[in-house]
Amino acid sequence: VPAITILGLPVHRVDMQGALDIVERFIQERTPRHIITADASMLVMAQEDRELRSILLSADLITPDSAGVLWAAKRQGTPLAERVSGVELVERFCVLSAQKGYRLYFLGAAPGIAAAAAERMRLRYPGVQIVGAHHGFFGPEENEAILDEIRRCQPDILCVALGIPKQEKWIAAYQRTLGVPVAIGVGGTFDVLSG
Ligand code: UDP
Repeated sequence: VPAITILGLPVHRVDMQGALDIVERFIQERTPRHIITADASMLVMAQEDRELRSILLSADLITPDSAGVLWAAKRQGTPLAERVSGVELVERFCVLSAQKGYRLYFLGAAPGIAAAAAERMRLRYPGVQIVGAHHGFFGPEENEAILDEIRRCQPDILCVALGIPKQEKWIAAYQRTLGVPVAIGVGGTFDVLSG
């Protein structure tokens, strides 16, 4: 996928439909892939945070997730089509899941929120396969149990809402041991979708 460069970091030239087509290809290929929705705050943070920077440089797909990123792209003469946000991606994953059976796992947000978001999505998109949910306020001692539970659920797409940059670092650390085809950090998405 062609990319532009903002603050020295890649952002791919994809619109929502293009991103979804790539996600479906990643699910078919079954190699663990990391998708990042980049807003301006993340690109700025990555100037100082070397770990986040290297995660961004090796991510499989980086979508433009804020007005600031679209503005910067346009200003430097490499305009992007539209925002591709975590909230909208997760809703579109639910649509695809209901149509094609893709398995989704929701990890993150305060206790009860990911489960409530899952319940909302089941009402809105009958047939959606949300195969598990867990809150995002766990300590290191619970990490192994959460990894086991996610493995047991065998999701195709793991949506992780621990905030930037915690969610990106968690995915980078554990995605391979999970063997999940698609993992994506989704920030405050479950708070939005649960309410
Ligand atoms: N969160 C979490 N565990 C943490 C810290 C944050 O699950 O240790 C959740 C928080 O409840 C919220 C999300 O991560 O649902 C962060 O979303 P927000 O939009 O505030 O952050 P951003 O994505 O901009 O970093």
